[in-house]
Amino acid sequence: MTDVFAWPSSWEAQRAADDKSFREQLAYLLARSPFYREKLAGADTSGGLDEIARLPFTEKHEVKATCTSDNPIGAHLCAPMSEVVRVYSTSGTTGAPSYIPLTASDLENWVTGSARSYAASGVAKGERVITTYNAGPFVAGAALDAFGRIGVNHIPVGTGSSERLLLAIEQLRPDAVVLTPSYAEYLLELRDLSASSVRRILVAGEPGGGEPAFRAKLERGWGARVTEAMGIGDIGPSLWGECEAQAGMHLGAFGFVHAEVVDPETGEARKLADGASGELVLTHLRHRAAPLLRFRTRDHVEVWTSPCACGRTTPRVRCLGRTDDMVIVRGVNVFPSAVREVVSAFAPRVSGRVLVRPTAAGVKQEPPLPVAIELAEQGTADPALAAAIRGRLRDVLVVQTDVELVPWGSLQRSDYKSTLVER
Ligand SMILES: [Zn+2]
Repeated sequence: MTDVFAWPSSWEAQRAADDKSFREQLAYLLARSPFYREKLAGADTSGGLDEIARLPFTEKHEVKATCTSDNPIGAHLCAPMSEVVRVYSTSGTTGAPSYIPLTASDLENWVTGSARSYAASGVAKGERVITTYNAGPFVAGAALDAFGRIGVNHIPVGTGSSERLLLAIEQLRPDAVVLTPSYAEYLLELRDLSASSVRRILVAGEPGGGEPAFRAKLERGWGARVTEAMGIGDIGPSLWGECEAQAGMHLGAFGFVHAEVVDPETGEARKLADGASGELVLTHLRHRAAPLLRFRTRDHVEVWTSPCACGRTTPRVRCLGRTDDMVIVRGVNVFPSAVREVVSAFAPRVSGRVLVRPTAAGVKQEPPLPVAIELAEQGTADPALAAAIRGRLRDVLVVQTDVELVPWGSLQRSDYKSTLVER
């Protein structure tokens, strides 16, 4: 069992080890995967990680197109099903579910990577941790196993009853709670939690937990420190986890996954360096059941590689949003979570909930972009407030909007993920 608290002494050393793993992974794909034999036909696979950008991407729909009744996993399956010890499903928010098979070593690596990511937050053996994911069929289940690996007192509560969760917080006095940022926000509407036992809020499942104003609202409301984690079903859960320095999420799945950032439009690779941003592209390094090469995650991230105060050496990211949620207005990319961040500054006059309502089908929109903004509980629809928000959105995000102030309680609450765009 790998020590989940050991991080690489230097990123260069890790990168050299990853290069070796990557070459072995490519040979494995070529030997076992009909999907990759076809995809890589004619490609020069001898260049190692330094030349990974010369190899083709893998898109989720390509893999799904190879599913048959004989092989419902897809033609990237490399291991016999007799060696598979677990099959997860993706939640299928953008279509029918995909099946994610894991061998015993795949599962072990998932749990190890997730444990590193969550341990970075500071949660430690002996602490009480309440988790709220109804993970059953989903890859988050492996992330929950990570809490056992760290050695915390794990109290799975699940979602479905906020009253039961609040009672557990009151009676069992946890040190930390694991939930989506949306749910962390919603619970504050139900109860004043600033005096609760909770010292750490570990958010994951959707972007937003790292946006300064939104994070400050959660930290104030809970009287606790907020750190994020992030993964993607097809590659692994909780691949990234933020440390107590709160300076972005460290790659906890180092050694198992290689990360790149590319231009979302052209696919051109960008250098991993402080301030770089683009779409995250991930490659398995030591996966056995159904490894993926240069998988396009549709997550847009900002990157840092400079030393972190915590001493961990792996790159860090902050997720800006999902491609699926992004709209483009006159050439400017607008993420709804960024709209929410700007609007949050108008609290306490607004609740902080927003809904972007595109008028045209597809990503490209003509200005003004309609945005519904929920008022605070006692708030009134003051035209001056709407104008001020419109002005701030224009200044900060360079987008013309049509702001509609809607009454408190009219936008959706969720114990899982929020809908920020109406399609
Ligand atoms: Zn750190």
